[in-house]
Amino acid sequence: ATGLAACGSDDSGGGASGSASGDSGSGSGGKKIALLLPENKTARYEAFDKPLFEAAVKAACSDCEVVYSNAEQDAAKQQQQAEAAVTQGVDVLVLDAVDGKSAATIVNSAKSQGVPVVAYDRFVTGSDYYVSFDNQKVGELQGQGLVDAMKAEGNDSGDIVMINGSPTDANAADFKKGAHSVLDSSGYTIKAEYDTPDWSPDKAQAWMEGQVGSLKGNLVGVYAANDGTAGGAIAALKGGGVKPLPPVTGQDAELAAIQRIIAGDQALTIYKAIKPEAEDAAKAAIALADGGKPEASADKEGVPATLLDPVVVTKDNIKDTIIADGFYKAADVCTGQ
Ligand code: BGC
Repeated sequence: ATGLAACGSDDSGGGASGSASGDSGSGSGGKKIALLLPENKTARYEAFDKPLFEAAVKAACSDCEVVYSNAEQDAAKQQQQAEAAVTQGVDVLVLDAVDGKSAATIVNSAKSQGVPVVAYDRFVTGSDYYVSFDNQKVGELQGQGLVDAMKAEGNDSGDIVMINGSPTDANAADFKKGAHSVLDSSGYTIKAEYDTPDWSPDKAQAWMEGQVGSLKGNLVGVYAANDGTAGGAIAALKGGGVKPLPPVTGQDAELAAIQRIIAGDQALTIYKAIKPEAEDAAKAAIALADGGKPEASADKEGVPATLLDPVVVTKDNIKDTIIADGFYKAADVCTGQ
């Protein structure tokens, strides 16, 4: 028994796929939309982004087609996938770039062939539209959440480490910047910092294993940029005999992370509602494929943008956030309790 508010209750969320049927949509239809995702180790892409995007496209335009590819963290492979999609005659690219800088080539080449590009989740210079979350705010929320958790354990000072995301991901730089804006002046000492290649949980774990010996006694918190790297860090801490575990942050509200939060192994994650992100991207892609302009409320480096709001999830608000929003059902989250 956990006593967790989310568990033991009978109400359940609606599941990830939602209801995306029926409506006819207004586009001229028959468009081909390429969805290019960066990797498949992080659970969100194939469990949420892909099905939610496909459902949103179908809902708005029943005879549109989504052509999907996953680059498995390989920027060169993603470039080939983009070229193949353009050759195949897609009307628009929805691109979640492995490497933000080199992806400018993908954008330029697609646009020179008359194919507009939606930058999905990760920004790419020169794209026609960008949808994401306020990523600096993600980092601020992680940093503040870590400080709150360390204080709650009675630690007003002490050593922390930072495990950031991939150096080629533009979002990772924003998360890091946001986290530093809180942690640098927090009274804690950032002892070591690591930019995790490819966001690899295994590399995060190996790095953390190398830190545990020297830090053990004074380590009061771990900033991990997402749930994959958090999982690696927690495995390293446990393997190194660190007890009790210091608070560890995360991001993505992965099911494994929610279960670690319930078990007390992870302090928090950041929930980014993927459904509105995927739906917005689908709408924008269809508008661009039809020669129109997507609606935007923000601007990033001259690119019309929509930036959604990230939310902190701790064991105290699991029910009011991800379950209330239908991201998971209470039964999924409480499995194994
Ligand atoms: C995404 C995160 C994800 C990470 C690793 C970032 O660009 O915004 O949600 O955890 O990439 O794929």
